[in-house]
Amino acid sequence: MTKGELVLREEIVWRCRELNASGVNQGTSGNISGRLENRMLISPSAIPYGDLTPELIASMPLDGDGAWEGPAKPSSEWRMHYALLRARPDAQAVVHAHPAFCTALAIAGKEIPACHYMIAAFGGNSVRCAGYATFGTQDLSDLALQALTDRTACLLANHGMLALGDSLAKAMWRTVELEALARQYYLSLQLGGPVLLSKAQIDETLARFAGYGLRSEPAAPTATVRGATREAPVKKARGEAS
Ligand SMILES: [Zn+2]
Repeated sequence: MTKGELVLREEIVWRCRELNASGVNQGTSGNISGRLENRMLISPSAIPYGDLTPELIASMPLDGDGAWEGPAKPSSEWRMHYALLRARPDAQAVVHAHPAFCTALAIAGKEIPACHYMIAAFGGNSVRCAGYATFGTQDLSDLALQALTDRTACLLANHGMLALGDSLAKAMWRTVELEALARQYYLSLQLGGPVLLSKAQIDETLARFAGYGLRSEPAAPTATVRGATREAPVKKARGEAS
């Protein structure tokens, strides 16, 4: 195993723990993948994050037929991750989770409109909600891919959300930001509904983000998640785009 592979395997492990420690996910309903050359490394199915080790991360060729290697089988949602990494060269990592507010909106079949300028962090003036299909199926994967056209995140009807990034750090940052946005939109609905931003206003935000470095990477995880021997967090992710 190369050093690069070990680093990615380790990151998938501590990002899974971070997903739950941050309150964005619960149980083992979330799953995380990363691209390593022509392979996908993905969190395994039904193993509590506390028991995860780098060796338990499954490996699948991206040009294969779903065959995988590892002591544990890949997440039951591997098809979504696999299809995304194949279809989207801009994606180096994919995060799937069931955050409460994203999922509440997805249960109601609502997309997130341009209610806040941070919508632009997901590529446009909305975050779509993919239609419903049974978890783990090719149908769900196809619907998700469609909802992600020109976007870097989507909701999944009666299920949860998906986010991608040009790094695992970015995909995680988008996951946390999407849940914050979903919560803000939900709260605005209690107040009579949001005043939406125009396409021109979102286009202006997109241009500013491009110049700002939405590319720059967000913070390292908290020391408690990553382990006491690792370096402490650097700064808050939200500041990257504010
Ligand atoms: Zn799920």
